[in-house]
Amino acid sequence: MIVSRANLCGKPSKLEDSLSEAVQLVESLPLVLVKNSSVVRLRKPCPGRLFGKGNLDFFRKMFLKEKITLVIVDGNLTAIQQRNLEREWNVKVLDRTGLILEIFGSRAMSREGVLQVELAHLNYQKSRLVRSWTHLERQRGGMGFLGGPGETQIESDKRAINARISQIKQSINKVVKTRALHRSARKKIPYPTIALVGYTNSGKSSVFNRLTGESTLAKNMLFATLDPKMKALKLPSGEKLILSDTVGFISDLPTLLVAAFKATLEEVTSADLILHIRDISINNFENQGAAVESVLESLGVEKNSKRIIEVWNKIDKLKSSEPVDIVSLKKNDYSKQSKALISAKTGTGFESLLQIIGKFFSDEKKEELIFVPFDKNKSRSWLLSNNLVIQEKIGLKGSEMWVSWTKSQKRKFESQTG
Ligand code: GDP
Ligand code: MG
Repeated sequence: MIVSRANLCGKPSKLEDSLSEAVQLVESLPLVLVKNSSVVRLRKPCPGRLFGKGNLDFFRKMFLKEKITLVIVDGNLTAIQQRNLEREWNVKVLDRTGLILEIFGSRAMSREGVLQVELAHLNYQKSRLVRSWTHLERQRGGMGFLGGPGETQIESDKRAINARISQIKQSINKVVKTRALHRSARKKIPYPTIALVGYTNSGKSSVFNRLTGESTLAKNMLFATLDPKMKALKLPSGEKLILSDTVGFISDLPTLLVAAFKATLEEVTSADLILHIRDISINNFENQGAAVESVLESLGVEKNSKRIIEVWNKIDKLKSSEPVDIVSLKKNDYSKQSKALISAKTGTGFESLLQIIGKFFSDEKKEELIFVPFDKNKSRSWLLSNNLVIQEKIGLKGSEMWVSWTKSQKRKFESQTG
C-alpha cells in the first residue's frame, strides 16, 4: 500500500505522476506486491499521526480487509509518527527515505556501495534518534524487514551508532583508495570513456546491452544497477571506447542519501562523453530530464555541456501518428544539444547513435603550444605517455611543449592533471 506525498497540494496530475513514480520504486523491491495506492489530501498534517481520525479509521479497515502488511508513505514521517501509525494500523510503515534505503540496500553490489548505504542508513537513524530521544526504548531496526546491509544489529544509542559510523567511514576510505588505484590503472588505457545516465527505467541498461552486446541486468526495475558497470565498445571506425552503465536517478533524492548515490556516479564526472538516456514515451518527460540535469549539475557537469548527448529512447512506444509532432515539439526545446532518437527494444536508431558518438570522438586534432612548469611533472609525463607531444623545449622554469590533440584529449588532460 502506498500513500503518496500526502501534505503536498499540487495539481492533480502532478500528484498522480509522483504516485506512479512511488509505485514504480516500490515495485522494484524484491518480494513486494503493490495492492493499492492512493493520494491522500490533508488539510492539516497531524503532528502525532500525520493523518486525521477519519483517514486513520478508513485505512485501518482497508488494511485489515486486504491483508496489507506494509504501508509506504511517500513523504517524510517523524519517528514518532511512524511508530504511532504502526501501532494504530498494525502494519510495517516506511517513509520515502526508508523506502529508498531499502532499495539501495537490496541493490548495492560493490563493497563501497554496501558501506555507503549502511552509512546513509545510520545517519538516517541518528537524525531520528535526536528527534525521538524519549522513545529510545523502542529502537527500530529499519531495514530489518527485507534484509540487507542495515540489518546488522544496530545499537540502541547514539554513541554506539557514532562508533559504527566512524568504523564505516574508515572502511570506505580504504575501499576508495583501492578503487582509486583501479581507476588510475584504467586511466592508463588510452580509451575515451562514455557514461550512460538517466532516470530510472529510461532504458540505460537496455541501451548498454545493445551497444556492448552483453547481457547485464535489464529488468523492469528501478535501480537495477547501483554500481557502474563497465564494458568495452568498438565503434564502426574501429575506435575502442569504455562504456559504463550507472544507477538511475530519481526526483527529490533525500539529502541524506546523496553521498551514497554520488559514490556510484564518479565515473560520470570523469567521462569524456555522457549519454543522457530519456524515456520519450512518458508524461513527465520534462520533469525527469530536469531532475537528471540538476543531479549532473551538482556533480559539476553543466546542463548545456558539449559532452552531453541526449538519447531519446522508446520511440517504438509512440503511436504512428505521434512521433513527428512530439519530436518536433521537443526538438524546439532542446535544439541546442545533439540528440539521437532510438529504440533499445527494436534497435531503431542505433546506427545513427553510433555515428553521433563516432563524430564526437573523431574531432580534428589541433596543435597547441603549452608551458608546463617543473613542479607539474605529472602533467608532462601524462602528455608524453599519451603520445601527444610533437616537440619539447626545456627552459629554466619548465618545458615548452607542442602538443597535437583532440578536444576530448585536451579535456581529459585538464580533468586528470588539474
Ligand atoms: P534503466 O533502469 O534505465 O537501466 O532501464 P532498463 O534498461 O532496465 O529498462 C527499463 C524497462 O524499459 C525494461 O522493461 C525495458 O525492457 C524497457 N525498455 C527499454 N528500452 C525500451 C524501448 O526502446 N522500448 C520499449 N518499449 N521498452 C524499452
Ligand atoms: Mg539499469
